[in-house]
Amino acid sequence: MTWWHLEESQVFKAKVRELIQFRAPWAKVLFPCDGMAEVRNTWDGETLAPFIDDRVGFLHDVSHILVATNSRLRKVNCGLGHDPAEERGSPACYRQVTERYADREEVFACVLQLALAAYLDCKDLLIQSEGSFLNTSFPSKKELASVQKYRPQALSEENWTHVEKARAAYEMRNQ
Ligand SMILES: [Zn+2]
Repeated sequence: MTWWHLEESQVFKAKVRELIQFRAPWAKVLFPCDGMAEVRNTWDGETLAPFIDDRVGFLHDVSHILVATNSRLRKVNCGLGHDPAEERGSPACYRQVTERYADREEVFACVLQLALAAYLDCKDLLIQSEGSFLNTSFPSKKELASVQKYRPQALSEENWTHVEKARAAYEMRNQ
């Protein structure tokens, strides 16, 4: 029995499914509790299927999907190439953007990941693991706004508002 089987994970799972399917309505969304045996890549363009039970990594991958362009959404790992954590990554997984572009998108993904952790009420996931990519341990309003400017379609209009609200509330509590 893992966290993924608990009642408290239900809202998290429903919200994540909604976020992914807003960007990729065709997507099949699996969670670690659904089994991970046959997975080669977390995202193959059609299915989100984590291969380890790691919520920080999971939310990071969700963020990458949300900030990818429409055309790269259909690609393995959003056309960003191998995730170093994915030892079993498929050969079809190659980088379709420049390293510079990928590094820039990485920052946006990290900012969104932390804001989503607040939105999904995962306080334990608001750790500083993405610190090397960010100036701050938790994104400012301006940083989240920069993600919205970079990829407006990453979230629905309504969810941009919800996520910013959650980000602001978390910031207020932790000042
Ligand atoms: Zn990344």
